Amino acid sequence: MFNLESLVRPNVLRMKPYASARDEFKGAASVFLDANENNLGSLAGEDYNRYPDPHQLNLKATIAEIKGVRPNQIFLGNGSDEAIDLLLRAFCNPGTDALLCLPPTYGMYEVSANLNDVRIDSVQLTADFQIPVKDVMQSIKPETKLLFICSPNNPTGNSLDQESIEMLLRQFNGIVIIDEAYIDFAHSLSWTTRLDEFPNLVVLQTFSKAWGMAGLRLGMAFGSEALIAVLDKIKPPYNINAATQELVIQALDKTEVLKDMVEEIVQERELLMQALPQLSAVELVYPSDANFILVKVKDANRLYNYLLDKGIVVRNRSALKGCEGCLRISVGTLEENQELLNAIAAFN
Ligand SMILES: *Cc1c(COP(=O)(O)O)cnc(C)c1O
Repeated sequence: MFNLESLVRPNVLRMKPYASARDEFKGAASVFLDANENNLGSLAGEDYNRYPDPHQLNLKATIAEIKGVRPNQIFLGNGSDEAIDLLLRAFCNPGTDALLCLPPTYGMYEVSANLNDVRIDSVQLTADFQIPVKDVMQSIKPETKLLFICSPNNPTGNSLDQESIEMLLRQFNGIVIIDEAYIDFAHSLSWTTRLDEFPNLVVLQTFSKAWGMAGLRLGMAFGSEALIAVLDKIKPPYNINAATQELVIQALDKTEVLKDMVEEIVQERELLMQALPQLSAVELVYPSDANFILVKVKDANRLYNYLLDKGIVVRNRSALKGCEGCLRISVGTLEENQELLNAIAAFN
């Protein structure tokens, strides 16, 4: 049986969160002398002399509407990387607990685990980058608190089988984190639609990829109200700055532009998928539901350096187990993609 309280670290369960000035006073006032701000104004203009809303209520209300969830099911982080770190700090006791991840996958799970002194257990994805469910279940130990599943997966690009994920959600009594950083480029429905079915589910999404706001640093974690309350309790009080809150609220008004951009990127991705296999340097192009493509090439290191010489930077993933000989290529503009294809065509 899944029991949230028994999973939360005892010190986290016991602690009281920081009470900010804006927490202690709620209501209307005209003179704010409670937060040691500079009441003369801000060199950055606007109202940036004031601390931002620590609970991001306006932003969460807007996101809730777009994502079809309740505001209290949303945690906002300084990038989803902050959510990953806080999940580890909330649930994994340093030196004893473990997380399970499924490589080849996103590197931050491991980095965050190492920082927090949390053991990393891993089960390699199959040759077609799917979940070996039985092996995963057998690798779960009493210390395993978190299971990270990235779908569509970075760096492989494919979506992971929904039924396999559902089996793990049903069988694992720890927390299953589904990282959907690239969900906007996929055809599948987000797991946010099934939050009420699984109290052990956390879905991560981000404004860094499809939304084009990587520089603002805003990531989302969706989960049950009780689970989100744990993350809210331990987050730095003002983790989302005022500029980010304002700019993202404005951007959320432009969902038609998002749709057009995603459509264009997916179209460009499909063109690359067709063109790349025609090139002699390319051995295999893996299927992609993301805004990048994993490509197996004849001489990855040499091709990588050759592209660098031409001013084109891709990601060399060839040293990663399961991705031997592979480059990960982000989908660019039409012109950039053409430049890339021309460069690879001229490689020998
Ligand atoms: C890019 C990426 C993220 C995004 O992280 P942010 O901190 O929100 O920019 C998260 N997960 C995966 C798998 C990614 O590739």
